[in-house]
Amino acid sequence: MKIITDPREMQKVCISFNDKKRKIGFVPTMGALHEGHLSLLHKAREFSDISVISIYVNPAQFGPNEDLAKYPRPFDKDCEIAEKEGCDIIFAPKSEDMYPENYHTKVSVEDITTRLCGASRPGHFDGVTTIVLKLFTIVRPDIAVFGQKDAQQVVVIKRMVDDLNVPVAIEVGPVVREPDGLAMSSRNSYLTENERREVPLIFSALQQVEKEYERGERSAAKLRKGIESAYRAAHSFKTEYIEIVDTITITPLDQIETTALVAVACRTTESNTRLIDNVVLGGTL
Ligand code: AMP
Repeated sequence: MKIITDPREMQKVCISFNDKKRKIGFVPTMGALHEGHLSLLHKAREFSDISVISIYVNPAQFGPNEDLAKYPRPFDKDCEIAEKEGCDIIFAPKSEDMYPENYHTKVSVEDITTRLCGASRPGHFDGVTTIVLKLFTIVRPDIAVFGQKDAQQVVVIKRMVDDLNVPVAIEVGPVVREPDGLAMSSRNSYLTENERREVPLIFSALQQVEKEYERGERSAAKLRKGIESAYRAAHSFKTEYIEIVDTITITPLDQIETTALVAVACRTTESNTRLIDNVVLGGTL
């Protein structure tokens, strides 16, 4: 496995793979790799000849009061894990090379980025789309794999790729979970013991909604209420949002007629950790 930090070198290497018609499969990450990330790598490898994982904690997608400084960065361990799982190249750029002096460009997807996570994290998705398009331009992948865990991110990236005619196929991997249902996340390491015991409730309430949907319930208000009352009983986290929205427009639904995204965000009370999760009803993202 190669580790490349220089964006120009990375681009040169990738152009030569493009020229040789070797397919590049790409998984952008912020590191602290877990089974969720690795499942995306496996998917990328299925569709490509060369697999690339980027590891970059992108400052532009963190708000001023967010966890940029404390975000885990176990780089050597990440490289070990990635190599064992068959990754061909790690691209780990430095901020001074990604955002050098006089950098002034931003990629902004409008409207759908103002809801759900965008409402509480202003500017977050501009940071995401800007870095993802930069990474696409450097890595020049044929396919890129994103996790359903960050469902709105998937919708936003797909919008950007369609709107800007970016020649990259986007694949989506399912949410990988701990045995008790908690969605794997690099941020789970922040949780206190107390919080860790209670947070599986975040997903069990979503599972309950899936069951009610399968039994025929189509009223978004009724499905939402079930989650709301389950979360109200929690002591160690508070609800930031519970939304049932269209998977293209991210607008709230009254009745579920086609595919719906049921997305939640919670914040724990002791470690102040923000956790998100979701299920998709009646289809896929
Ligand atoms: P991150 O390192 O958190 O920026 O995530 C990098 C990629 O991994 C994103 O596409 C995430 O959606 C995806 N991802 C994170 N957690 C999971 C998970 N538990 N299951 C599947 N994919 C995930």
